[in-house]
Amino acid sequence: MLRTYAFLRSVLDTIPDHVAVIDTRGDIHFVNQNWVEFGRENACRVVPDWKGVNYLDACDKAAAMGDTFGMKAASGIRSVMASEADDFYFEYPCHSQDEKRWFMMRVTPFYMKGEPYYVVCHQNITERKIAEEKVLSLAFLDGLTHIPNRRYFDTFLDGEWKRCRRLNMPLSLVLIDLDHFKLLNDSYGHQQGDESLKLVGRLLKKYSRRPADACARYGGEEFAMVYGNTTLSQAGLLMEFLLEDIRSLQIPNAASPAAPVLTASIGLSSTIPGDVNRPQHLVKAADDLLYQAKENGRNQLASGRLGQVGLPRGGTS
Ligand code: GH3
Ligand code: MG
Ligand code: MG
Repeated sequence: MLRTYAFLRSVLDTIPDHVAVIDTRGDIHFVNQNWVEFGRENACRVVPDWKGVNYLDACDKAAAMGDTFGMKAASGIRSVMASEADDFYFEYPCHSQDEKRWFMMRVTPFYMKGEPYYVVCHQNITERKIAEEKVLSLAFLDGLTHIPNRRYFDTFLDGEWKRCRRLNMPLSLVLIDLDHFKLLNDSYGHQQGDESLKLVGRLLKKYSRRPADACARYGGEEFAMVYGNTTLSQAGLLMEFLLEDIRSLQIPNAASPAAPVLTASIGLSSTIPGDVNRPQHLVKAADDLLYQAKENGRNQLASGRLGQVGLPRGGTS
């Protein structure tokens, strides 16, 4: 029996996961070598013998101090113990000072001589999480300019809309269309057009630095911006600076009737999100204003509050 125990213990020590076996009270009966080493490396309370340490107590103590892991782990273990679930697992971040790490905790019951025991296993899933993050960020990034794409923008606008509505704050939405971009392509080639889009994208990033700001490539030579908790006049001032910065890039577009360099037309609409209006109404209002800016000769901003589209340029907040 002793030989069998030593043999099985050696096998479990080769497993990279951190494994412990607990009983119905939460007392630990067995830990493998990696459980001990992980505890030591992460300055956990290391005792010479983990046997007898109560894992549920440890989780409860952490939960009482506001630790989400402790809370979820304790309630998951108890749900398996109460046979409310066949097993339990959840993924959690456990970043060290110099690297990102994620783990998955799994709790699985088994019976020995009619007594229930539970295997608690922590598996390092960092590689998979990093790959998932990369895929997710690629799905939300525009391939050419490397700024967020329209899918990201729509999600961000939705979130910011709800936040501003809850807090009764103004939200500003901007649509930007590069003027006579077809002529730029025709005059200097598609490659030069692509480079120009990248430069504009880089510039827009500088105009979206706060957590409540976002820029995106909306499609083709069109871009969009969201400014949470920003009034019409605040966003309007920013957009006047942006128009000047785009002109200052000095990207030649000699054939353009608007100016011999690349310019943009901008539609800006603001509102305090309410019960009646919707994000798409704000987008539509900005689009109508953009059309107005084009009609008025391009290379300019047209702005207004939602429901007041058609206001002369420079409407106030
Ligand atoms: P307007 O001032 O009315 O906006 O005129 P415009 O020429 O900018 O607009 P139009 O819609 O007629 O043409 C858009 C042009 O943008 C044509 C299209 O080839 C170009 N374009 C769209 N996406 C890309 C891209 O990824 N790279 C390049 N180089 N050009 C693009
Ligand atoms: Mg366009
Ligand atoms: Mg255009």
